Amino acid sequence: MSGSHSRTKIMQTATSRAPKQVTQPAPLSQIWACDVFNLAAMEESLSKNAFKAMKKTMQTGAALDPINAEVVAAAMKEWAMSKGAKFFSHIFYPMTNATAEKHDGFILTNADGNAITDFSGSLLIKGEPDGSSFPNGSLRATNSARGYTAWDPTSPAYIMQTANGATLMIPSVFLSWTGEALDKKIPLLRSNAAMNAAGHKVLSLMGETDIAPLNSSCGAEQEYFLIDAAFGTARPDLLQCGRSLFGAPSPKGQQFDDHYFGAIPERVQVFMQDFEDKLYKLGIPAKTHHNEVAPGQFEIAPYFEAANVAADHQQLLMTVMKNTAQAHGFMCLLHEKPFAGINGSGKHVNWSVGNATQGNMLDPGSTPEDNLNFLLFCGAVIRGVHLYGPLLRAVIASASNDHRLGANEAPPAILSVYLGDQLEKVFKDIQAGEFPKSEKGGFMEMGLSQLLKFERDPGDRNRTSPFAFTGNRFEFRAVGSSQSVSGPLVAMNTMLADSLDWIAGQLEAALASGKDKSAAVMSVLKVIMDKHGNVVFGGNGYSPEWHKMAVEERGLKNLPTSAEALPELIDPAVISLFERTGVLTPVELHSRFDVYSEQYVRAIELEANLMVEMATTQIYPAAISYLSKLSATCGSLAHLNITLDTSLASAVANEANAMMRVVSKLKAASAKHDFDSMQKHMTYLAYDVRGLMNELRAHADALETMVADDMWPLPKYREMLFIK
Ligand code: ADP
Ligand code: MG
Repeated sequence: MSGSHSRTKIMQTATSRAPKQVTQPAPLSQIWACDVFNLAAMEESLSKNAFKAMKKTMQTGAALDPINAEVVAAAMKEWAMSKGAKFFSHIFYPMTNATAEKHDGFILTNADGNAITDFSGSLLIKGEPDGSSFPNGSLRATNSARGYTAWDPTSPAYIMQTANGATLMIPSVFLSWTGEALDKKIPLLRSNAAMNAAGHKVLSLMGETDIAPLNSSCGAEQEYFLIDAAFGTARPDLLQCGRSLFGAPSPKGQQFDDHYFGAIPERVQVFMQDFEDKLYKLGIPAKTHHNEVAPGQFEIAPYFEAANVAADHQQLLMTVMKNTAQAHGFMCLLHEKPFAGINGSGKHVNWSVGNATQGNMLDPGSTPEDNLNFLLFCGAVIRGVHLYGPLLRAVIASASNDHRLGANEAPPAILSVYLGDQLEKVFKDIQAGEFPKSEKGGFMEMGLSQLLKFERDPGDRNRTSPFAFTGNRFEFRAVGSSQSVSGPLVAMNTMLADSLDWIAGQLEAALASGKDKSAAVMSVLKVIMDKHGNVVFGGNGYSPEWHKMAVEERGLKNLPTSAEALPELIDPAVISLFERTGVLTPVELHSRFDVYSEQYVRAIELEANLMVEMATTQIYPAAISYLSKLSATCGSLAHLNITLDTSLASAVANEANAMMRVVSKLKAASAKHDFDSMQKHMTYLAYDVRGLMNELRAHADALETMVADDMWPLPKYREMLFIK
């Protein structure tokens, strides 16, 4: 049997790999954003007028006129070519979690056969990839498959370096011939605009006169696993699905917590340094890295940026991370649950909104005025999460994230808001009307002054909450590690836009009725707490009591799998929310439901099919070989008059037979397609098919603990997770 031979070889490769030397590290000042066509690079290469226009576009989102676009295109080409680029590409973000590119050369030949280069404003602005190859739900019939990419000048272009050259990458949106959003960037830009418009109304009513455009910000903490590439390539499941479909638990797991607190292994540290230098060149502000809880698990967190740029950077970060890991002999696993029984990976999306004049609206600030604005924006979030919690659950739904949500390691599949003791008390007091009114503004001194002492206590954390206030931002903690941050950001911006709009209406009426500003704010917040305060929860989100209380007493929805969560995308209230705010039309929203549901179905079918294949062609043969070896041994021992206890052989045979019976059932189950709705199909996969997959796995994992180690065909957990 090849098991022994190949596993020994894999172990040898993995254990003999040394940290990979890279070129001498350069100081930050030399490499920071050196491959980005940012404002500094533009100032050097653009005329004064063109630079002014570009700066305005980048900072406020104002449109760029064609003449200046022509100037920018020429300068961008010169800049990129001076860095060795011969090709350029629009990079865009289809409705998968991936990115897409279509590369074109700058080259043209003239009549004399000489190579010249060309890059016009129109090439910069518009591209036409083969649209039909991207999932689009029902949005575009394949016979009119035109999809366009269009330059997003608010996210800077950059150079992607490989060992043999460079390509100019131009962040872009992706839309259909008829103007529908086919990507994840357009809704993000629209949601930001909706939030800005509604926020502006509220701030005006609050008496602010100088109000810069409001923008959302995002800082994403990314968890991931690293294993030696030799293990990864020997496991069809890791290669094709990004997670191990089989694998008995390692005797040593994460029970000692020795990884989290331990030093970063040198090979990993060397990888991180190389990876982070690459990020710095691309202008991505990598800030924090450390070991995570599970063996082989790590985290990287860049400093926060404007949401649109952060979303592009987050996609780029995942690409660079996977490629750099490969160069260092690692396989980087971004899957939410690569190893059963071991902690999975998430992506905490830290989110705030603010502008240049009023600052961060989710920061309590230092004056009573600031605090009123802060409380209004916080109240808007509370209302939003209560009304649209199921939407927030839907935008993080995926076949892989289902493995985390609802388990006792990740935030639950019920959306609640954690405010921290201090802020929760403030809101409860407001609800109870406990801020006594007095004449001429005494109100604020007495009541809200406690907020002035508001302290950001990093220890004041509730790790079991899916949505937590953390001092000057909210942290959406249930997002999956492989997911784009765009969906969550769109949902948060849009629910905030809706709430701010509602608040503006209430505030206007309260002010018109003669209330002073703080009394008006308090009355609006009281209504919010009366109607939506149920979503505020500071206790243990993992506990069964909460699961019961949330649903039965507080009327919150528990949506344990994507089969329940994804249909929330096309709930009438959600359709109306997106339509009202102008973020997605009903057709665009339906297309997203179609695409994400299809992805869910395909992911589970792929796993089921691969399990059937691995069980039949790798695991069953290993069991049989072991049995035949045992039987041959028994035969030869019989000549010596020695008999062996055959209970192990019987157990192996029983497990192998039982496993193959489940294989037949799973084969039939995953081929079943006659469902009268997508939701029924998803439910069948989530429960029946996944149930069979778990059963199959249990038999295979039992065999792993009985079959001779040298005959087992797959790298084991105890090898993959601990060899560095
Ligand atoms: P922790 O692990 O304690 O949650 P980290 O320091 O690892 O915190 O990550 C916090 C993330 O939140 C970082 O990406 C940081 O830049 C980001 N962040 C900090 N302030 C804000 C803010 N106002 N808006 C959005 N993100 C923020
Ligand atoms: Mg965090």
